[in-house]
Amino acid sequence: MGEFDLIARYFTRTVRRSPLGVGDDCALLQPQPGMQLAVSTDLLLEGRHFLPTVDPRRLGHKALAVNLSDLAACGARPLAFTLALALPGIDEPWLAAFAEGMFALADVHDCELVGGDTTRGALAINITVFGEVPAGQALLRSGARAGDDVWVSGTLGDARLALDALLGTVSLPQAVLEAARLRLETPQPRVALGLALRGIATAAIDVSDGLLGDLVHVLERSGVGATLEAVRVLPLLAAAQALQVETSKALELVLAGGDDYELAFTAPAARRAEVEEAARQAGTPVTRIGRIDALRGLRVLDAQGRPLTQKFTGFDHFA
Ligand code: ADP
Ligand code: MG
Repeated sequence: MGEFDLIARYFTRTVRRSPLGVGDDCALLQPQPGMQLAVSTDLLLEGRHFLPTVDPRRLGHKALAVNLSDLAACGARPLAFTLALALPGIDEPWLAAFAEGMFALADVHDCELVGGDTTRGALAINITVFGEVPAGQALLRSGARAGDDVWVSGTLGDARLALDALLGTVSLPQAVLEAARLRLETPQPRVALGLALRGIATAAIDVSDGLLGDLVHVLERSGVGATLEAVRVLPLLAAAQALQVETSKALELVLAGGDDYELAFTAPAARRAEVEEAARQAGTPVTRIGRIDALRGLRVLDAQGRPLTQKFTGFDHFA
């Protein structure tokens, strides 16, 4: 099988919405009048972003999920994506499973594959997604204001717990590992929540490198600070329901774990009911974890209202 047979067999499907998909020099997209295109790209390298042992179906899911998560954070509706692949060789069962996982998620979000590039090399996956958002309505990192609440969707820290277990630095009961591993390998991008938060949230970001580190990006872009409450974030570690986890370890996982692909966002305190209604509509739980302050910096308070002295480290590939 050659490059073009591979593309035809595994990565060519009839497009429904886009005027032109795989097979020409460019794909063509047709954004609706009054819409802005939202574009994001993510590169996944074996050994750095995923373990060589990962199930290819889950890898196909995750490669697209991390990109859809960026659209979610901007409140954009997915339209289409491209796939650039470097493959060490042609492994048909691997390709079939990878494509199946990727297209299953693509279909859930009505996002179509319109093009890409395929080359031989160490396994690397680059997806670029295109979404649309009404002009001026994208959720940005820069809109947080003093007095806003800080919210986060879903659960945090379980993906990192699974990674630690797979790397052998912690050991987990089988059932806990399987649940946490699903969070690591098949994150669910919060697209519906991002759409529902348009016009309500003042700022948003997806949590990929750890809550604190990602929140700092929002604070810096917005020129504000924040105070979080440890008692509100601690219950977000789902595994803690089945497991005794030391508080400092649980805080480390929840606040700095990474690979969560939840949305962290801010909204005026006067709009709490609207945030809760948006979350209900989207079918995604949200938790209020703190507030935005005029005072710069990020503080986490313990149950007595004292600032935690524990140091947290988010994920930075060059740190
Ligand atoms: P070009 O040389 O003009 O860039 P290619 O020969 O690389 O075109 O690719 C042929 C067609 O197949 C193009 O339409 C391209 O977008 C598409 N394509 C290549 N690789 C992939 C892939 N992994 N997934 C989807 N489409 C792909
Ligand atoms: Mg090419």
